[in-house]
Parts: sequence; C-alpha cells; structure tokens
Amino acid sequence: MLVNPVKNLKEDDVKIFLVEGTSLKLLEDTLKDFKSLKPKVEKVMEIEKFKGKKGESIKLIDPLLYIFSLGESEKITEDAYREVAAKVSARLKKDKIGKAVVIADTKYSKAITEGLMLGVYDFDKYRTKDKEDRFDVEAINILNGNQKDIKLGSITADAQIFSRNLVNEPGCVINPITLANIAKEECEKVGLEVHVYDEKWIQEQGMNGLWMVGKGSETPPRFIHIIYKPKKNKKKSKKIAIVGKGLTFDSGGLNIKTGDYMRTMKLDKSGACNTIAIMRAIAKLEPDVEVHGFIGAAENMPDGKAYRPDDIIVFRNGKTAEIDNTDAEGRVTLADVLSYASEQNPDVIIDMATLTGACVVALGEFTAGLFANDQTLADTLLNISKITGERLWQLPLDDENLREKIKSPVADIKNTGGRYGGAITAAMFLQEFIADGIKWAHLDIAGPAFTEKEYKYYSKGGTGFGVRTLIDYILNTK
Ligand SMILES: [Zn+2]
Repeated sequence: MLVNPVKNLKEDDVKIFLVEGTSLKLLEDTLKDFKSLKPKVEKVMEIEKFKGKKGESIKLIDPLLYIFSLGESEKITEDAYREVAAKVSARLKKDKIGKAVVIADTKYSKAITEGLMLGVYDFDKYRTKDKEDRFDVEAINILNGNQKDIKLGSITADAQIFSRNLVNEPGCVINPITLANIAKEECEKVGLEVHVYDEKWIQEQGMNGLWMVGKGSETPPRFIHIIYKPKKNKKKSKKIAIVGKGLTFDSGGLNIKTGDYMRTMKLDKSGACNTIAIMRAIAKLEPDVEVHGFIGAAENMPDGKAYRPDDIIVFRNGKTAEIDNTDAEGRVTLADVLSYASEQNPDVIIDMATLTGACVVALGEFTAGLFANDQTLADTLLNISKITGERLWQLPLDDENLREKIKSPVADIKNTGGRYGGAITAAMFLQEFIADGIKWAHLDIAGPAFTEKEYKYYSKGGTGFGVRTLIDYILNTK
C-alpha cells in the first residue's frame, strides 16, 4: 500500500477525517458544503451514539466519508495517530475501498503513514482458502501531508513489516543458512556491505558460544555482519552497532521445552529480523553515522551433538561460562557476538533479544525491558519510545546481590541465575561481553516481539517491535 501527500480534495474522493473527540471543526474547515452536510453527520453521530473515544468511528454513505476519533484532545499523542490510522486502513480493507484521502493534523504525517501501512498487515502467504476474498488497499493519500515525513514513515513502516514477514516464517523455512542468505540478498540489494561466515570460521574465531548452541542442529550456525557507511566520509562520524539475537528456532535443546512453551519459538529470531530490517532502512535513509549490524544465527536443537548442561564454554573474549540450562542459549550466542561487536570499537552497542520469559513476567507482553550501562543512552531510548509507541521500561543492572547468582564454582559465570530477577541476571551475563568504555543498551523484547492477539497496529504473529525506535535513535545520533 502506498501513502502520498495530495494537495486538493476531489468531490468523489473517499474522505477520512481524524478528529479530536467529537469535534467537527476539521470537517468545517475542509469541506465547502459542510453546512448542508452538518445535520446529516450529527444525525449519524446520534444514531451510532458516537462518544469520540479513541478509535471510535462513523461512516456516512452519501457522500462516502468516515470520521475517526483520536479521543479526548488532552490525551492525544503521536501514537494515538498511529493507532487510529491503523484502524482506518483496516476498515478500508474490510469495506473493500482501494483508495481514500485522510484529512488530519499534518504535523503527524509520519505517524499516520506508519499506522496506515501497519494496519493492513496480514501474514497471509500460506493461507490458500480465502484468497479470492482478500482485498488490498492500493493507496491512501494525506491531504497536505508533509512529503518528507510521509517518505520517512513509509520506510520505517516498511522496515517493521519486513521484520514481521521474516519472523512469521517458520523454522522449516528460516534456518541459520536461509536467514544469512536473505540478509545478504536483501541488504546487498540496497547497497550495504554484507559478510556471512560459516561454522568453520565461527570455530576458528573462538566463537564457541555460538558454535556450541548451534551444533545440535542439522543446519550449522552462521555469523552475519552488515555494514553501512555514510557517503560523506566524515572522519568523526559516530559508529553504532546493532546486535540481534538470531535463534531461528528454540526447542530448548537438551533441556527441551514442553509443548506450550515450544510453540511460537520461531519468534526467537526477532532481534535478528529487526536488525536486518533496520539496516535496510538505514541504507535508504542515509544518516551521517556508521552502522553495523551483527547477528549470530543458530538453531537450538536436542541431538547427539547438542551442547549439554555442565558443559563449560570458553568464549571469544576468554571468559568462561558453565552451562546450567541449555534453554538459556540466547545469552550464550550473544556473548560472542557482543565481544566481536565490541572489537569493532563502536561508540554504542544496542542489542535486541527475545531473551527471557522472566522479562514478560515482570513487565507483561506489551513492554520491553531496557537495560543500559549509561543513563543518557537509556534516557534517550526511553524518550524516543514514547514517540514511537514501542513501550520500554528500564530495569536495574546495579544489583550486586543479584549478580552473585550468576557466579559458578567451576567457571567465571554460569548461564542462568535462577528464577528471581531472571531478566536482570540475563542482562548481567551479557554485560560481561561488552568492552570497557562502550555505551551499551539491551532490549529484552521477549514480551512484545510476538503477539497472539491483535492490538493497536499489531496483528497476530511477529510485531517488528523495536525497529522504529532504533531507526529513530540512529537518525537522531549526531
Ligand atoms: Zn531458549
């Protein structure tokens, strides 16, 4: 679906107004014939008992127009525009209307564009039965929309959709090798430099964590490095590393998950899918910073070759860890990836990982846990997330009593810290692999990366949560 700005409203356009509460001011300001229309609109409002709550809508048949409310004016945020715009495009799809014009406060052109595009998302490629009934909304224009913001919103929404599509592919389609192939193909297409390394290289490089986790699978692990360099070769441009957890499927390994917990574990590659999506968007947006994407792709399976509880791993940076539970594998793969990323001397490392169930217990399924070794970085991400609507909540990294829990009698650390504070001890494990002097933030997206029910602009399945926040962060880095 395309979103474009348009200068004039035509008589036969399907018009969609995004209004504050029940206010008809926007219609009054826009429509020449509003006076004759007003009683009609008011009558429909009365019949439909339109209260002007967020997302509430009415439809007028003649002329064909919709009014969507953003809710009470004092509560309207940028994300309200995104959320309501998603309802608009979903409604048009349902009503089989291919083209329409949105009339709204054009200050929110970016959020509206994102909402419109995300609202019609549906992972339907494997559903063959209702194919004839499916309808695609072709284009929605925004009256006097800001061209630059619409373009930016189209790229960020497209990135989020790209990530969703990849996450929603099952483990029989996406394994470490196919994930690496897609990363290479899709990123090279937009002019990025991509290096994919095989299991031999991984072992030679001392990435024993990534290797140990991945070797129980029929498909060996891959290490993916995607590079964006700004065209203007400014000497002082900042360097950002984005790291994504890439477990293409997580059975738990020898500590095998039970059925309920294993289902949906194709989602365990969400961080990696986000990383590829972000890098593609960055190539199109051409910011003045250098950005590197790093992914350790592996499949965690039980097998004669699988790693075991009690195993001791010597990681790339020389640190050692005792394996307590093979299902805490994300941090074991990320350890080497974060070490490698650290060696490239970035100013900032941000990782995204569907890391712990404990984080979902702590914050619920709609909020990601944020951990950072630098409060300015944490505050920046928190502020951006308020605009993007991707909820973040900061959790502590300074609880030294909790840190005791990941101590091991036989190695430097161990890969689980018990049930209490599990999201925090997992983050503390990762912190061991961040080199001194590098600012680092870790997003535990185990909750919001995937949803079993529709909400806001999310449909069932992968959400691409985090993509827009990190793109915004990169674009705002000077
Ligand atoms: Zn696991």
